[in-house]
Amino acid sequence: MKKIILDENEIPKEWYNIQADLKTPLDPPLNPKTQKPIGPEDLKAIFPMGLIKQEVSQERYIPIPEEVREIYRIWRPSPLYRADRLEKALKTPAKIYFKWEGVSPPGSHKPNSAVPQVYYNMKEGIEKIATETGAGQWGSALAFATSIFNIKCRIYMVRCSYEQKPYRRVLMENWGAEVFSSPTNLTNVGREINRKDPNTSGSLGISISEAVEDAATHENTNYALGSVLNHVVLHQTVIGQEIKKQFELIDDYPDIVIGCVGGGSNFSGAAFPFVRDKIIGEKPDLRIVSVEPLACPTLTKGEYRYDFGDSVGLTPLLKMYTLGHSFVPAAIHAGGLRYHGDSPLLCKLTKDGYMEAVAYYQKEVFEAAELFSKTEGFVVAPEAAHAVKAAIDFALMCKKKNEKKTIVFANSGHGHFDLSAYDAYHNKEIKDYDHPDELIKKAMMELPNI
Ligand SMILES: *Cc1c(COP(=O)(O)O)cnc(C)c1O
Repeated sequence: MKKIILDENEIPKEWYNIQADLKTPLDPPLNPKTQKPIGPEDLKAIFPMGLIKQEVSQERYIPIPEEVREIYRIWRPSPLYRADRLEKALKTPAKIYFKWEGVSPPGSHKPNSAVPQVYYNMKEGIEKIATETGAGQWGSALAFATSIFNIKCRIYMVRCSYEQKPYRRVLMENWGAEVFSSPTNLTNVGREINRKDPNTSGSLGISISEAVEDAATHENTNYALGSVLNHVVLHQTVIGQEIKKQFELIDDYPDIVIGCVGGGSNFSGAAFPFVRDKIIGEKPDLRIVSVEPLACPTLTKGEYRYDFGDSVGLTPLLKMYTLGHSFVPAAIHAGGLRYHGDSPLLCKLTKDGYMEAVAYYQKEVFEAAELFSKTEGFVVAPEAAHAVKAAIDFALMCKKKNEKKTIVFANSGHGHFDLSAYDAYHNKEIKDYDHPDELIKKAMMELPNI
């Protein structure tokens, strides 16, 4: 079978909350000033209670509202493909499967969380949502979701992307969002930065600060984040629950589960239902592998400790693997994988040994993506290409040992807005970067001592 398709009524009815299955609880987020644990009250200025409750919930399963499932129907259940043409090209005895999230209207997994996030805001009477976007994946997912629930959407888009990547901006505007080149003159943070450095190219940290300030200073406006937080990861578990059902249909179960990690949402969503099987002792040998760029090696080289979520130090402190909040990423093409930290849940499960991580250079990642598009047809996002590369490597290891393992990877999105990156690859302009150990050491000295 080339693709395993579920019926619409098999869209999961609940999200899976792995907090219920942790052997020891997650370290709590801390107030950035007092370093004391923060409570739900502290988040009320920028998030709706519906999401704050999910953030701290210890319930194993959380019902998905029918209105959200109704929207999920547009692209869910997403197909699970057998990459048999790639297997043949590799001459591997392994079976390779991929879960394809490129079928959503914005083209990635991100609307799996954007839709419920906007839904809970709408339910609580919020009229507008402010957010940041770098390359535009999260911004376009939120713009899509707000258009569905008739809520206004304001997007602070990092200035260099705004200028260099106009197409995602057009997509967001098509769904009715207002998109500004950040830093703007609409916020105190933005005005201050523009005064100091009128030629700044902006950064994700600056745009986050602008969106948070906007939400905190307007009664009717909330903020939304596209990854990292527990409730975002929770929403993404529709991916992994569907994969499990799809494997049941073909009477198989993976030996290796793979996905790329930027803030950790698509891979946590795909992997956590499988991690549960490992935690409860049913699948002790299952390997669950995160893939990241060597230019941003958070899980493979970062330290596990409390750090800020943004570069300015305004957000709560989160316990996670981090390269330090002052980390400035090299200009790699996988824009969505350039974050200094990762989801605290994914980090804890890595620390506790249930998950592992590998890192690659971007040139080898594009090589893998090219082989994938020549065999399987799909042109994947540079972020997703990291998972493709790891799947190929594991399949080649199986070939060496003549093992018929089953490999599945989360294929997080298409690369139709990333063709300039593919162009650079074709023109041999792709450079490899390592993030130097000395810079990590230096950045660690700026972290609070907790
Ligand atoms: C944003 C994005 C990522 C990285 O974010 P995660 O939260 O780690 O999933 C990966 N792939 C695509 C296609 C993205 O848009």
